[in-house]
Amino acid sequence: MRTLAIIGSGPAGFYTAEAALKSFGDAVRIDIIDKLPTPYGLIRAGVAPDHLSIKAVSRRYDAVATDPRVRFLGHVCVGQDVSIAELTALYDDVVLAVGAPNDRPLGVPGDNLPGVLGSAAFVGWYNGHPDFAALAPPLQSEAVAIIGNGNVAIDCARILAKTVQELQDSDIVNHALDPLATSNVRRIHILGRRGPHQASFTLKEVGELGELDRATPIVHDADFPPKEADSSLETGQRRVVDVLRKFAAAGPDSSKPISIALDFFRRPLRVTGDGKVEAIEVMKTRLDADGRAVDTGETETIPVGLVISCIGYRTSSIEGVPFDESAGRFLNSDGVIAPGLWCVGWARRGPTGTIGTNRQDGFSLVERLAATPHAGGKEGRAGLDLLLANRNVKVAHFADWQRIDAAEVARARAGAPREKIVSIAEMRSVIGG
Ligand code: NAP
Repeated sequence: MRTLAIIGSGPAGFYTAEAALKSFGDAVRIDIIDKLPTPYGLIRAGVAPDHLSIKAVSRRYDAVATDPRVRFLGHVCVGQDVSIAELTALYDDVVLAVGAPNDRPLGVPGDNLPGVLGSAAFVGWYNGHPDFAALAPPLQSEAVAIIGNGNVAIDCARILAKTVQELQDSDIVNHALDPLATSNVRRIHILGRRGPHQASFTLKEVGELGELDRATPIVHDADFPPKEADSSLETGQRRVVDVLRKFAAAGPDSSKPISIALDFFRRPLRVTGDGKVEAIEVMKTRLDADGRAVDTGETETIPVGLVISCIGYRTSSIEGVPFDESAGRFLNSDGVIAPGLWCVGWARRGPTGTIGTNRQDGFSLVERLAATPHAGGKEGRAGLDLLLANRNVKVAHFADWQRIDAAEVARARAGAPREKIVSIAEMRSVIGG
């Protein structure tokens, strides 16, 4: 029997479990451990609430979680309730699938002013992550700066720009929907330090900017290289650039009260304000021959009351696990951290790729795992249960999550799939203990 502990119940964790079930058949027992009582990681707390079709992948994870060879142990914090050394002593393999939940710091003067938020916090707030439920982002100002040219920047802009009606059927939490309904935000600046050819947007996300009820994209012709240069782009990026060129050619729709300006070639220099964000100063940039952003020396000040930094994420370090500080993830060689200790997904390769990339990652990790002989004879789940019981850790099992799920579905507003419970204490009271 092979015993496997997977830390993290997001896509990377569930795909690894699915692959291990396929590869080892009845000769495996898997415990999926999460620090929250709720499973699914980024699917629940990261994927935009209006992208419900992507969230539907959790049904596939349910089939894994309810397999008799698998257990879900929620509300267990590795590094606090149980150490990595204890887990590696109990299980043949321990896989860290903990993602990258922390914002990369913006690293400019003023980035600690109230009103500067990282995307982990802002996205966590509108998605009902317990850690960010009390965030209260300032939405009184008419202008917002969003830094970064990736899909997270687009998600944040779209959520700020949508009407209540457009969000009604999503699983956005009411504590975000209510303040968004009365928000004063009218000008959203998405600041990219490079140009349209270098943007990390994908087609669906960029296309949605042109389909909003009350918001219109603003893109400037002058930011594009000559049209012939598009032929050097790979197909996906060329399609994204095609959409951006269409936005530029059409110009903004003056009937829409909210603008989403794609301000390319602008790098944040500093955030300024007296006790709170009042403006962001940017350096205008151009590309050098290698496609890097270089300063032009010309600066610009954009008055804003909220800055959301969407420039990537870092994994949380765990005591006893070697960490690459500069990359912000575990030190590993193709998923191997140490004998019997592995990592997968964003914790392995950093915050890139789609949900599906983690499937490939999980399956290839299990191939390597299967090719690695194990001595066997470890205690596995019985040992963990004893240890957690001795420490009075109240594990939330999958049936407990199903109770939380049912309570969330029962209290959903009209049209929405659920109203998430955002306090751990309330989750515990639904579980009953
Ligand atoms: P991302 O795609 O890596 O984009 C990060 C952006 O931040 C880049 O434009 C980068 O510019 C910029 N940046 C980095 N450091 C900066 C700095 N110091 N100053 C200014 N700009 C800086 O990351 P993401 O948007 O966080 O998304 C993470 C992953 O999740 C991506 O793979 C994304 O596609 C995926 N995702 C997918 C969806 C979806 O499929 N619907 C939704 C959300 C996220 P440079 O290019 O110049 O480095």
